[in-house]
Amino acid sequence: MPTSSDRLLLTNATLFDGTSQEVRSGLVDIAIEDGRIVEVGSDLSSASASGSREASGAANTDEVETIDCSGKLVTPGLIDCHVHFMADGDFSPNTHAQTPFSMNFFQAAERMERTLACGITTVREAGGSDLGVKEAQEKGLIAGPRMQLSISILSQTGGHGDNWEVCGAHMPGMLDAHPGRPHNIVDGPDEMRIKVRELIRAGADVIKVCTSGGVLSPRDDPQHPHFMADELDVLVAEASAAHRFVMAHAQATQGIKNAVRAGIRSIEHGIYLDDEAIEMMLEAGTYLVPTLIAPMGVIDAADRGVDMPATVIAKARGVVEVHRRSVANAIAAGVKIAMGTDSGVTPHGQNLRELAEMESLGMTPGAVLEATTRVAAELMGIDDEIGTIEVGKAADLVVFDGPTLDLSDLRSRVDTVVQAGRPVVHS
Ligand SMILES: [Zn+2]
Repeated sequence: MPTSSDRLLLTNATLFDGTSQEVRSGLVDIAIEDGRIVEVGSDLSSASASGSREASGAANTDEVETIDCSGKLVTPGLIDCHVHFMADGDFSPNTHAQTPFSMNFFQAAERMERTLACGITTVREAGGSDLGVKEAQEKGLIAGPRMQLSISILSQTGGHGDNWEVCGAHMPGMLDAHPGRPHNIVDGPDEMRIKVRELIRAGADVIKVCTSGGVLSPRDDPQHPHFMADELDVLVAEASAAHRFVMAHAQATQGIKNAVRAGIRSIEHGIYLDDEAIEMMLEAGTYLVPTLIAPMGVIDAADRGVDMPATVIAKARGVVEVHRRSVANAIAAGVKIAMGTDSGVTPHGQNLRELAEMESLGMTPGAVLEATTRVAAELMGIDDEIGTIEVGKAADLVVFDGPTLDLSDLRSRVDTVVQAGRPVVHS
């Protein structure tokens, strides 16, 4: 672990600092001490600014590491606002049934490492992982992104999080209740009140709810709204009392509007947005997390031969184009967009494909990178700590080969990932 006198210096960078869509070309230095950014400027010295050299007396243990970033782009650590570490592009009940319980956690650790290697230093875990997964990363037992947890995905009976099948059995899946992950099916305001409190007790940083059907669930329809206003009002009131935001899996037009009206902070997927829904989101300041690669990933998985019900594959094929149109309209209208991939539906490690998809729907590369750094941090309520390269912020940064904002092949350009002031990935 770094000592207080450790200093890391990145020199001669082309900088995208996340405070705007602009790039500062060449020759920017960034100095990091104690895991924080202490200086951003030109010709910074490799000597520690802390003055600890004199104070520490004879034993000079200062470590200065310099990374030459000539011809390279440096950005804030990237943020993915929608991942599921308890799945990896294969969500067939058979796979879940044949996975030993504790194997799930070892698999999650490997997926987290794969995510970090993309330059993603923070995620919002949108359902599946429990508190131990987050704490293992925080304690340094495993490498991975910083994490906000939702743990369970609240769903009504027969909703997107309900794995009941027509044979009468609950099929195994990544949301099955266990001691760290409360049961996720809830009906009525009274049950909702208890459930939100249970989730907060279990360590949820954010509450995830399904206000419409979805693609991967067997018995619901992405065009139907789920939960009534009285249930959503209790949900938001309880979450707010505990200073938690709510994120809504919301695909149906009415499910999106119900979520916005209830004061939910972000719409996930947003497949069937109409003009009124977009207007309401602008008015309320609601964020959209598009997850464009998710339905594409379901179709890819079907083509790879992953065992899925025909109804699920048909739903995925039905939504891809309408989803893209919907998100393009939201972008054009100026809805706040934060990057999220739904990785887990797609294999982890392909996250950066989402950025090129966002660009293809009308965002500039600078706007896409803002959505993947500062705006994502704002959505999560942690923008005082991460999301930009500014003095005082936690030192999460990515060094990309080549000085351009070209988003077409970002993954292959990841050179070095710095998290909390330490180079954690070097390719
Ligand atoms: Zn999801």
